[in-house]
Order: sequence, then structure tokens, then C-alpha cells
Amino acid sequence: MDTTSVTAYKEIQCESALHKLKRKIPFGWDLKIYRGCSHACRYCYAIYSHEYLNSGGFFDDIHVKTNVVDHLEAELSSPGWKREVVNIGGVTDSYQKAEDVYQLMPHILRLLIQYKTPAIISTKSTLILRDFDLIDELSRITYINVAATITTMNEDIRRKIEPGSALSVDRFAMLKEFRKTNASIGLHVMPIIPYLTDSRENMEALCINARDCGADYMLPGTLYLRGATRNVFFEAMRKDFSDVYPRLKEMYKTGGTSKEYKDHLYKMVNELRDKYDISSSYSKPMKEKMLK
Ligand code: SF4
Repeated sequence: MDTTSVTAYKEIQCESALHKLKRKIPFGWDLKIYRGCSHACRYCYAIYSHEYLNSGGFFDDIHVKTNVVDHLEAELSSPGWKREVVNIGGVTDSYQKAEDVYQLMPHILRLLIQYKTPAIISTKSTLILRDFDLIDELSRITYINVAATITTMNEDIRRKIEPGSALSVDRFAMLKEFRKTNASIGLHVMPIIPYLTDSRENMEALCINARDCGADYMLPGTLYLRGATRNVFFEAMRKDFSDVYPRLKEMYKTGGTSKEYKDHLYKMVNELRDKYDISSSYSKPMKEKMLK
């Protein structure tokens, strides 16, 4: 995997914008603008989705759905649209480098405003600040959640495991900006990588930053390794973290960690969330806003 390679964009046509999810978790619809993602996270669980595309690689061969805005307008203006929550960037980041070129999100946000449609946006980029005014406007009409996924406050580790993402401190600064709007803001600490980002020190630093930027909630999640992700992840660990590589190999004989590990980790995270008075509820701000 060579992250110094030039990112290629391939323009594609989609047949619909919104994808209905089998289960509401707690959102019912997914909106994906890009296939592939230049943030190049070594643990990315979406890598498998490029296997069906005759493509050079998930991280540097980005497919752009150039007609997604037209489809979204048709779908949101349909009499059958019930204004359910749309999850944007749940699979690939909608504010990755390609968005700086194609600028599709402002059109999408204008449609969400026009059709009073609630949404969740998760990103590892500060490019979302470009659309601050639109998100501010949407937040005064309906529920909008801006979430940053931040896994570590150690910049040396961050650079190696998420080379295309924004600095962790900049992502927290971005959340703090959105605190000025009516949006719900959240911190997703996913995935927590054993031996690398699971220390109490790192979790506490994340909680302190979450508290300081006024996050509504913090959600943790452990690392799962399946399919192509497993190879990409272990190759990166072998190259950049040779000290923890053997222990990770031992721990991840299957796709996940043991129940004992998870119990211990979540106990520590819960203690820290209590200490810094950070909610664990993703859906509480949503319910409060949607009922208004
Ligand atoms: S931001 Fe998400 S989709 Fe993009 S590479 Fe990282 S984990 Fe994968």
C-alpha cells in the first residue's frame, strides 16, 4: 500500500442515492457519495467493498457518484419520503480529498434543508468546516449530528494508522466549532486497537478533549479484522509497529478480541466517561430533537 501515490478519480453513475438499511441503527438510510477513501486507515473495514469493482485499490482509486445529487432530489421530493434520518459517511468519508474537488456535499446539505431531512455526518476531515453555514442552518430546522472518529491523541500513531486524516487536535477543534450550532456533536472512538490505542492514558486524553469541546456523547468500539482488512492491517503493524505485531497476531487468531478483553476495556472507558461526565447515548439528542 503506497499512500504517496496519486489519487485517481473515476466518475460513475449511481441508480439511486439513498440506500434503505435492513435495521434502523438508529438511522434508516445510508447515503454514499464516494467509493474508496483517501484517508487510508489501516484498519478500514470497508476495503472489501472495492473487491467487486475492477479497481486499483480502495485508498487511491476513488469512484465518484457524480449524479448522486439528482437522485437525492428525486427521492427527497417524493411524496413517500418520511424524513427519516440519513447516515452520510457511514461507509466511506464524505469529506475525503475527493470532496474538495467535486464539492457535492453543499448540494446535498441544501437538499436536506429544503426537505427538512435529519442526518448524521461522520468524518475524519476538517473539510466539513467549509459547509459550516449550511450545517448550522440545517441544525436549526431538524436533527443533525456531526461526529468525528478520533482514535488516538498520539500524533505519531495517528500518522501511521490514519495517514490521510486530519490531526486529532484539529478534529476536536472542528467539533468545538460545531458546538456553536444547534447540531448534536459526538466522538466515535473506533476502533480501539489493543496495545496501540487502548491505554488508559489515551482514553483519558480523548475524554478530556471530548469534554472540552462539549461533545454530546462518546461511543467506543473494538477492532474487528476480516477479509482484506486483516491483511492490510497486519502488514501495517508488521512494518510500523513491530513491537506489538506478534501480540496482535496472537490476540487476533479470529476476527475479534476476547470477552474478557472487551469487559476490561469497556469498564475502563465507562469509568472515564463518568469521571468526565460524557454521555454514552448516541440516540438521546436525536430523540429529543426529533420529538420537537
Ligand atoms: S475514514 Fe473510514 S472509510 Fe475512510 S479509510 Fe478510514 S475507516 Fe475507511
